[in-house]
This record gives sequence, structure tokens and C-alpha cells, in this order.
Amino acid sequence: MRVTLLGTGSPLPDPHRAGPATLVEAGGLHLLFDCGRGVLMRLAAAGLPSPALLAAQFLTHLHSDHVSDFNDVVTTRWVTSPIPNPLSVVGPPGTQRFVDRTLEMLTDDIGYRIAHHEDLEWAPGVEVTEVLDGEVVHAGLSGAGVQVTAAPTDHRPVAPTVGYRIEHGGAVVAIAGDTVPCDGLDALVAGADVYVQTVIRDDIVRQVPMQRFQDILDYHSSVTDAARTAARAGVRTLVLTHRVPAPPPGGADEWIDLAREHFDGEVLAPEDLGTIDT
Ligand SMILES: [Zn+2]
Ligand SMILES: [Zn+2]
Repeated sequence: MRVTLLGTGSPLPDPHRAGPATLVEAGGLHLLFDCGRGVLMRLAAAGLPSPALLAAQFLTHLHSDHVSDFNDVVTTRWVTSPIPNPLSVVGPPGTQRFVDRTLEMLTDDIGYRIAHHEDLEWAPGVEVTEVLDGEVVHAGLSGAGVQVTAAPTDHRPVAPTVGYRIEHGGAVVAIAGDTVPCDGLDALVAGADVYVQTVIRDDIVRQVPMQRFQDILDYHSSVTDAARTAARAGVRTLVLTHRVPAPPPGGADEWIDLAREHFDGEVLAPEDLGTIDT
């Protein structure tokens, strides 16, 4: 399997980082996890010119930074598909409502394009599977020998939230999303080859004299938390993403050193479009 960090950013706009999104290639399928700011530009840079080629869109939670470009995924898939090509969306309970509201928002544009293009006679299709715990039932995945398992994570008061464990050919990738350490996370990550965790530097955030920054401390994994989770789970490679506050390009060494204090395995903090193979 190959993991590509499409966006390593956070809610704060950054010229070097797109919003949270990760591509996993497994069994010939392209699986997209979250779809933050700029996801389709990064997807094109990663070699996928259209989201029409995605096998499924997975959502870890409905925080805006993780789903801000979902409407772009839906619209661009629709207008670049020559035949009806429903998007498969897997996410926590609440995803169907979010999708319905997004399609409602797009109503005017859908009308414009159907009126203008003679061969476009259908509205965008989206097929939602809501998951909280257990294997994701999806014909496309099983047909390709890819198993995806969801487990609940802890990002309260944002709830419900989930992470994903992707297994193919004996390799395991875990995409955790925003969460503090918890039992669900441990189950997802157990023995993983690659564990991708959104992280914050609690030591830096604590110094920001602004309550809104302090508020993010209690519902994200710190670098130390992520390293301890990785060590407990016997992970091969820990990947730090969604880094807050963002280090300057190439400035992630300090983050890696911090993680290494608690975890003996490989630690990576790639820039956008960095890849990791299992
Ligand atoms: Zn979040
Ligand atoms: Zn986030």
C-alpha cells in the first residue's frame, strides 16, 4: 500500500499546506480520507486528475477543516464522469445529514449544469455508509481484497468520530483522525505498518495567550501522546500530520525528536505530497 499526505495543514491557512486529507492506494483502489482545503489540487499533483477515479471517500469526522472541500469532490466527480458515477462516502453517524445538506447547498449549480449540458441528465449521486465500529461493508473494497475497519475515537465534544484501519496483502495502515489516546485508537493501530496521527505541540500551544488556542489542547493527541500510542501498539512507522502550530517547511525535526523520546520505531513528518510505502 502507498500512503500520500495530500494535506498536512490545519484550520489555519498556510501557503505550504493544504487542509487535512490523506490518500491510500491499496489493491489498485484510491481511497481518500478526509477532504480539507485544496484537496483536489493536491490529488491532481499526486497523479489523480479527477476525483471520478476515487473508489471511496472516507470521513473521520465532520469538523470543517476535514471536510471543507467535500462539495468540490462531489461536483468535480459529477461533471468529469461521462456516465452516472455515484460517490461512495463512509463516515460516522451524521454523515448522511452532512451529505444531504451539501447537496442542498449545490442545488443551484446542479440546475445550471444540467440545463447547459445536453448530455448531463443526472444529478450527482452520493451513497453513504455510516460506521462507528467494525468492518466497513463495501463491495468495491472486498472485490479488491482490501479490508477497512472503523473504530470510535475520542475528539469530544466533537462526536461521534472514527478512525480507520486498512488491511491489504498482510500490510496495515491506520488513519486516526483527530483524537486523544483511547481504546478505539489502540485497536485501530495495533501492529500497524504505518500509523498516521493528527498532532499538536501542546508545549507550544500552551504558550499562546489566547483561550481559543488553549481549547484545542484537550481533544487532540500531542506528539508525545502519538508516540506513546505507537509504542504501545508496536507500530513500525509513525507519521505526524495536521501539525499545529505549523513548523516552517523543513522544520519538523524537532517534532520527530520529541516523538523519538517515547517511541523507538521510525518517525516521519512529511510535507504535503510526501509518500510512505508499507
Ligand atoms: Zn477535528
Ligand atoms: Zn482537525
